[in-house]
Amino acid sequence: MSNKPVALVTGAGQGIGRGIAIELAKNGFDIIGNDCIFDPEDKQKGLFEVKARVEELDAVFLPVKGDISLPDDHDKILKKALSQFDRIDVLVNNAGIAPKQRLDVLDTTMESFDRVMSVNIRGAFFLTQKIARQMIKQVEKDPLMKPCIIFISSISAEVSSPSRAEYCISKAAVSQAARIFADRLCEYGINVYEIRPGIIKTQMTAPVQEKYDKLIQEGLVPQQRWGAPEDIGKAVVALAKGYFDYSTGLIVEVSGGMNIRRL
Ligand code: NAD
Repeated sequence: MSNKPVALVTGAGQGIGRGIAIELAKNGFDIIGNDCIFDPEDKQKGLFEVKARVEELDAVFLPVKGDISLPDDHDKILKKALSQFDRIDVLVNNAGIAPKQRLDVLDTTMESFDRVMSVNIRGAFFLTQKIARQMIKQVEKDPLMKPCIIFISSISAEVSSPSRAEYCISKAAVSQAARIFADRLCEYGINVYEIRPGIIKTQMTAPVQEKYDKLIQEGLVPQQRWGAPEDIGKAVVALAKGYFDYSTGLIVEVSGGMNIRRL
């Protein structure tokens, strides 16, 4: 067993989760990569492509199947993680979904609302509860340990998009969950942070690529480019390495300057 710190990343099979796993591996972490899509035969994409990439970086990658919207899968993820590692140093709540169809807020359906909430907030919230309890046990055994938890929310936690209200509402809830866990876990020295990505090029934004290409060209993003998964990965590394040790509850926006109000 290696004695590197271990990071559990949800939704690690592609996109931002993949970028986070790779950046953490480059910076001295072993990875437990979770995803609900799990195909050991597929080495071109998904968890097993990421596993190969992480292993090239001399890090261990444990692929773990699990749908974070299902509480039973939380137990399975933790059990599997602890079968290979005796600790979890970092939890990155990254797995998230967009509505299948963008509908005006006046037409949003309960079905879509429940689907998005079940993954983006209910899943992340209860998985965090479970992993936080594990981290508390670790800290009680070894007070020198300094685990942390990172929630990947979105600028949609604050920005209004009337064509995907359920997504924005779920991300606002993620933001509050991060704050509450940060508050509660202080006494154990477990820091909790929130990262708010802006417009990042992944499968999630593929259906609206042309729309965002145009908006970026027209100046929507001050840094004038799409974000890449590695932009989020680098922010995760900075937090996971403890460079913001005195800043629990910190919100880090990684959006190319979309936080700047402009006239
Ligand atoms: P993506 O769709 O490319 O990848 C998401 C990954 O999560 C996939 O591998 C998917 O299989 C997995 N996943 C989905 N539901 C899951 C579940 N229930 N259990 C386990 N795994 C699950 O999306 P992405 O763009 O990489 O987004 C990652 C996170 O970043 C999401 O929380 C998303 O809301 C957030 N985000 C993305 C953007 C963006 O512009 N792409 C912007 C802001 C925030």
